[in-house]
Amino acid sequence: ADAAPVLAAQGVTAGYGAAPVLEGVDVAVGAGECVALLGANGAGKSTLMRALSGLLRPIGGRVLLAGADVAREPAHRVAARGLALVPEGRQVFPALTARDNIRLGAWRRRGLGVDVEAELARAVARFPRLARRLDSPAGLLSGGEQQMMALARGLMADPRVLLLDEPSLGLAPGTASELFAILADLRDEGVTILVVDQMADLALGIADRGILLETGRVVRAGDAQALRGDGALVAAYLGHP
Ligand code: ATP
Repeated sequence: ADAAPVLAAQGVTAGYGAAPVLEGVDVAVGAGECVALLGANGAGKSTLMRALSGLLRPIGGRVLLAGADVAREPAHRVAARGLALVPEGRQVFPALTARDNIRLGAWRRRGLGVDVEAELARAVARFPRLARRLDSPAGLLSGGEQQMMALARGLMADPRVLLLDEPSLGLAPGTASELFAILADLRDEGVTILVVDQMADLALGIADRGILLETGRVVRAGDAQALRGDGALVAAYLGHP
């Protein structure tokens, strides 16, 4: 069996100035696996997402995507190799319609004989609430609808691995649960997922494994259900509402 991970950070050190935010971080996501990345505010979760996706060049270490070291590649090259990041805050184009925002996700597949409209219909079918808002400017969508739109955009890339940075941010609890139910469906279909979320209970609920980051280092990693059953850990990190 091919046990090589789809995505791996090996000894990644990264930051923004003199003092690194991440120090020697090792993370691996196997094919079809869903991994939840947890940690308190400022632990470095978003920094790791940026380092994995080419938005931030690590000072040291390797980032392997489907076997290739992409640590020194720009974000568009990493995306072209099959990594889709749904960033924190979603980064939508507010004046474009939801439909056009979602279409943008297919940029790397244009000219490959992919029926973009059919793919769009398939992606949107997962989000009944979004389907009714496709022709609205993205900026007028609710937070939940924008998050679903950003996720649909990510799916349009047919990624090898999907990175989600705080998908529940700013969402009402019911909407967050709805979104995580969709993520669980994706996981069941074999989509490889790395998800960061403050609602760790939700994130661990859909994950196979959890990784706990503390001040830029991995301090714990293991089976998601085991971590979820650890009351002290849940109380300390999971930011329960
Ligand atoms: P949060 O949940 O608050 O986003 P996080 O775990 O994602 O937390 P990061 O956003 O990775 O944490 O931030 C880790 C550290 O890096 C923090 O001390 C933060 O202030 C710092 N940092 C983040 N972005 C920048 C930046 N663009 N320039 C300088 N420092 C930054």
